[in-house]
Amino acid sequence: MGRDRWTTRLTVEQCPIFLDVQVFRRSGALKESPGLPRELTWKTSENGATVGHLRYRVTQEGPSGLALYFPPQLVAVNGLFIPDGGDQLIALEAVRPHLGGVRYWLKCECGKRAGRLYLLVAAAGFRCRRCANLTYRSAQRHDARKDALCRNPALLGAALRSRKPRRRTLGMGAFTQQLRREQKRGW
Ligand SMILES: [Zn+2]
Repeated sequence: MGRDRWTTRLTVEQCPIFLDVQVFRRSGALKESPGLPRELTWKTSENGATVGHLRYRVTQEGPSGLALYFPPQLVAVNGLFIPDGGDQLIALEAVRPHLGGVRYWLKCECGKRAGRLYLLVAAAGFRCRRCANLTYRSAQRHDARKDALCRNPALLGAALRSRKPRRRTLGMGAFTQQLRREQKRGW
């Protein structure tokens, strides 16, 4: 368990600009003649407002002969234009399962295959969840419940004495979290 688990890590949900291999497959972009300039647009799920957009094209470059090429451009994120630090070539890997058809993967610079690559603003291009050090909200929701216990000594005490094992485990987690924080403050 990382020390910065409940403080500095961003969640997947906080990275609205990501590439989803399914989107490229569904849009037919991978079957069209390569080189056509295309654009990706991201919208919020709440009100459909545009979060960002990026230009790209499908090319036959790269180790697998199929890749997404993002030219150097300004990334529009929430109305702000941010230089993305250069161009990026993302290899696509086609896997043919025994039952037929084709399954595509995006290849991260670390060498891992991923269904999604995330753009971290002010970082170098799209990277997989592991490289971007992203976590899922569910992992933090658990910590939010611990936080609630840390703030309320009576609740924490009740959780530690609870007859429900899961509640006790949560209480123990909150207790050790609180201890660690106090040690950090130099107590
Ligand atoms: Zn990676």
